[in-house]
Amino acid sequence: MMEPASTYEGTPCRKCGRTTRYVATGKCVPCRTATVRRVHKNKRATDPEWVERERQRGREWWSQHGAERNLRRLTDAKREAEARYFRDRYANDEDFKERARSRHRKRRALKKGASAERYTRDQAYAQTAGRCTRCGKLVSKDTDWHIDHRVPLALGGSDVLTNVGPSHPDCNLRGGATLAKTQESLFAL
Ligand SMILES: [Zn+2]
Ligand SMILES: [Zn+2]
Repeated sequence: MMEPASTYEGTPCRKCGRTTRYVATGKCVPCRTATVRRVHKNKRATDPEWVERERQRGREWWSQHGAERNLRRLTDAKREAEARYFRDRYANDEDFKERARSRHRKRRALKKGASAERYTRDQAYAQTAGRCTRCGKLVSKDTDWHIDHRVPLALGGSDVLTNVGPSHPDCNLRGGATLAKTQESLFAL
């Protein structure tokens, strides 16, 4: 059984003592499931009437809820297939990833009341003729590089071409939400 991700500070399972979430009737779910399995196994071996009653109960349940259950299984499978499709399709699609990053930047800017416009990575790169906004050295297009904001989005900067330039990932992350003021001269404007 899969361990639930979250834990809680509560009554420990009275059987095994674990404090994992979802304690039912004093026992954690794995312990509870084990007990039910053991009881059922015993019943199946010794009580044919019980077996018949359970079978009947099962039939009734399926006639009432079967369609719903099957539908849910189907939609779960469909949702999973879709998620897998997108994961596979876009795992190596740089254009898609950049569009996603661009939407993310735009949202951040608009949230702070700043403005946003569409621009390409190439345009951002050209803003400083390929010089890192932080250290001023040339950024190679062949390696990973970040779009940096002169006035950071976190400080209310806009996601517009005149506010962006390329940066080394390390330089960009080190800079955090600080102004790229040392390299102002690099910018085209
Ligand atoms: Zn337990
Ligand atoms: Zn740099």
